[in-house]
Amino acid sequence: MATRSVRDLPLAGRKVFIRVDFNVPLKSGTIKDDTRIRASLPTITYVIGQGATAILASHLGRPKGKPNPEMSLRPVAARLGELLGRPVTFAEDCVGEAAEHAIAEAGPNGVVLLENLRFHPEEEKNDAEFAKALAALADVYVNDAFGSAHRAHASTEGIVRHVKEAAAGFLMANEVAYLGKALESPDRPFVAILGGAKVSDKLEVIQNLLGKVDALLIGGAMAYTFLKAQGKPVGKSLVEEELVDEARTILADAAGKGLTFELPSDHVVAERLEAGVPAETLDVGDAAIGDRMGLDIGPKTAARYAAVIADAKTVVWNGPMGVFEIDAFASGTMAVAKAVADVDATTIIGGGDSIAAVAKAGVSDRISHISTGGGASLEFLGGRTLPGVAVLP
Ligand code: AMP
Repeated sequence: MATRSVRDLPLAGRKVFIRVDFNVPLKSGTIKDDTRIRASLPTITYVIGQGATAILASHLGRPKGKPNPEMSLRPVAARLGELLGRPVTFAEDCVGEAAEHAIAEAGPNGVVLLENLRFHPEEEKNDAEFAKALAALADVYVNDAFGSAHRAHASTEGIVRHVKEAAAGFLMANEVAYLGKALESPDRPFVAILGGAKVSDKLEVIQNLLGKVDALLIGGAMAYTFLKAQGKPVGKSLVEEELVDEARTILADAAGKGLTFELPSDHVVAERLEAGVPAETLDVGDAAIGDRMGLDIGPKTAARYAAVIADAKTVVWNGPMGVFEIDAFASGTMAVAKAVADVDATTIIGGGDSIAAVAKAGVSDRISHISTGGGASLEFLGGRTLPGVAVLP
């Protein structure tokens, strides 16, 4: 799945439209987390370093096709300017005269940030005229917004049909390279760890990975739908009743394929999902759970999972093993985070909660690849074609 890289294109003196993902959390004009802005810096500095004008475009929030000052990208332009150490010209609109003026003003080596693409309803409709208007601003198109690549929008898909040259930015190329290799030719053993709240969110991922991994380790609330399918007592743990039959089919499939499909063998249970409630560790299957709920994998399970992870050569992890936001239910997730950090393997982490968990465990810098695109990485791992990736040469 080799995509052309921005490095393969001559850029000097050219205008380069870069689709970035600057969909940052904003509160009253203050950026709460600038990770996504930082993640695009390598591509932006490379493009301007080549003597091109970088024209950056992104969506922010859900303004529903109308200008909304609360979702303006203006504060992002200021923050980006600080991070780059150079001025960023802000364009009040992402198409037309305002954009053209800003681009001319910035000139070679300059950086322009266009206003929120989703202020125009045509963006999400992948309208051809709008895509053409975006394309008209530049000579070259670069997509560095992996997190938006699962949507066929004008700036992620349509525009590519109207530009002479297109390529992937460094962030996009990295995501596709890491996730693509894991799915197509992983170093083995390939171990996937899936957790979090719902089986339904990750059903496709489980089904797709069943044919590819050597071991699948399940934790978090999603384990309880499988445990229920096995007839184990689950008390008031989160179960998706409508998926219990599907869970049974998945268990049978996994057994038929002879792969390791691990479910918790012990867990931490409590009456409520709340800090400070009394908690107890029980074996899974122990009827003493009563009407309490399972909120973390237990120490035996954590050790068992860590042992499987220690032998891996490729690890993909998405979703926490328990309610890691509350310390009493965080041990399982922390143990898995440490095991993933310790193993000598290619390790890939996706999903906001797993990213927060490795940060909480203090091991983020010991992970090979942290995938910034939550929904996009799940769709990719689920075997779907991402329109924004497929359209790139
Ligand atoms: P997701 O967004 O699907 O990855 O789910 C993450 C959320 O699942 C986190 O907020 C966790 O607190 C929650 N979670 C994980 N394990 C459990 C559990 N056993 N019971 C309830 N919630 C859980």
